[in-house]
Amino acid sequence: MSEQTAAQQPLPAVDYLKLPDGDSPYLEGCKCKECEAIFLGSRAVCAKCGTRDAMETIRLSNKGKLYTYCIVHRSFPGIQVPYISAIVDLEDGVLIKGCMINTDPEPEKLKFDMPVEVVYKDALGRKDSDGNQYISYFFQPRE
Ligand SMILES: [Zn+2]
Repeated sequence: MSEQTAAQQPLPAVDYLKLPDGDSPYLEGCKCKECEAIFLGSRAVCAKCGTRDAMETIRLSNKGKLYTYCIVHRSFPGIQVPYISAIVDLEDGVLIKGCMINTDPEPEKLKFDMPVEVVYKDALGRKDSDGNQYISYFFQPRE
């Protein structure tokens, strides 16, 4: 029954993750036409200058730097630990939280300001009650 209601294609895990047909996934942000401030996701009012209805939708960079992180050793039941919860400063100036993958969860392997890139993968194999699969974003070290 749940298989009948599941979408054919995986769904984005968050609304600012876009999965265009025939193109690469990307994170969507918005840019103020007045002061050029950039934010994650969409908004009607600029949080920097207060201008209303002057936000244009933009595609955010997949490159950034590791701003800070936390190695998580205890979590909810069913969540594999340890994992790296990270905050990344994208090249656009947007700060975004997510999980760092493809590197060991060891402080020696993680340097502040190290170059990282955003990658898009299945959301750890998790499905919702309707059987929908999800694509999420992760960070990994960049050469
Ligand atoms: Zn503004």
